[in-house]
Amino acid sequence: MRPIYLDNNATTRADSAVVAAMLPYFLEQFGNASSAHAFGSEVAGAVKQARKSLQALLGAAFDHEIVFTSGGTESDSTAILSALDNQDGRDEIVTTAVEHPAILALVEYLRTSRGIKTHLIGVDSRGRLDIESYRRALGPRTAIASVMWANNETGTLFPVAQLARMARETGALFHTDAVQAVGKIPLDLKATEIDMLSLSGHKLHGPKGIGALYVRKGTRFNPLIRGGPQERRRRGGTENVPGIVGLGKAAELAVSLMDEEQTRVRALRDRLEQGILGIGHCFVLGDEQNRLPNTSNIAFEHLEGEAIIHHLNRAGVAASLGSACASGSMEPSHVLLAMNVPMKALRGAIRFSLSRENTVHDIERALQVLPEIIPKLRVSSPSWQEHAHVTASPSRSAELTS
Ligand SMILES: *Cc1c(COP(=O)(O)O)cnc(C)c1O
Repeated sequence: MRPIYLDNNATTRADSAVVAAMLPYFLEQFGNASSAHAFGSEVAGAVKQARKSLQALLGAAFDHEIVFTSGGTESDSTAILSALDNQDGRDEIVTTAVEHPAILALVEYLRTSRGIKTHLIGVDSRGRLDIESYRRALGPRTAIASVMWANNETGTLFPVAQLARMARETGALFHTDAVQAVGKIPLDLKATEIDMLSLSGHKLHGPKGIGALYVRKGTRFNPLIRGGPQERRRRGGTENVPGIVGLGKAAELAVSLMDEEQTRVRALRDRLEQGILGIGHCFVLGDEQNRLPNTSNIAFEHLEGEAIIHHLNRAGVAASLGSACASGSMEPSHVLLAMNVPMKALRGAIRFSLSRENTVHDIERALQVLPEIIPKLRVSSPSWQEHAHVTASPSRSAELTS
């Protein structure tokens, strides 16, 4: 039986319509978009069409505000480094403690190697940004404020329109890593003061290795990768045409299927979450009322996430630890640490992330196996045994240890 995939915040399957749209650009229309012959002009037209599809998805005012990159990580680096390089007298970064490593590793590098002052704004126990600290950190030295639109681990949404306005008022640029938000919630950049936005193809049923950076018209910009005149000299290198066409198709599909994220996917997520909460001694991490419709991060008390993932995997269900990026290391997730998640729950966090490809059957299957796995693991958890002895009535604890 094909495993059930509930790890869509790590990556998504490319839509078959995306793959079909890409194929001709390997074989028949293989031209270089910059070439002055028929091979080139056909391809340039396809790239333009993809740019328009992204413009529509983001609610951008102009298609030339879209710069194609190799993905979310490159877009994030480009935005931050561009802002530092072209704002005289402004050399500080304001960001959050819960960003993706694509931002955090970069700002840590800039801090240690270039002495760039970085303010990492904290969150509360529900993952909500400390807006007062953010306000205080912004100042005449701030080059850029960068706050993710949606957190990849908990799905918590940040009030980026408000945060962008606050940054603008102090003369700083505002960037948002919207890799998890794009395609899942409606966006309208025209109506905001966001200067730059990162997105990635493989998080919205597009191909891997392609992404985009939105750069508002008039924003001072320094390319990260210099070379030829591609992308209006904002990103050198021959365009990844099949990737760009695939991302364009993924954007088109996302626009037409957006309602489904808000209705069917959200209902499946809620059903899964309610079922899991019924197992007991677990709770939802993140801002429940203000989350992506597809994400549910659940802390199972007194358990090790690795063991849960392992047993789920054996039962044919793919989910991930609190963070896919933290897996492999034994460190608890930086996001959950920033939220001050209690010790007994910190290591047992599992992220379930759905997509429009999931069915009711998938959710039912997950809800069949989880209530078998969790109690079994608890029986062999020393921490649970201790807890059960301390809190349970004598008869109940006897039952548990027998
Ligand atoms: C996946 C992800 C990235 C990285 O995108 P890539 O295209 O894989 O480089 C950046 N930020 C967030 C929030 C992500 O979820």
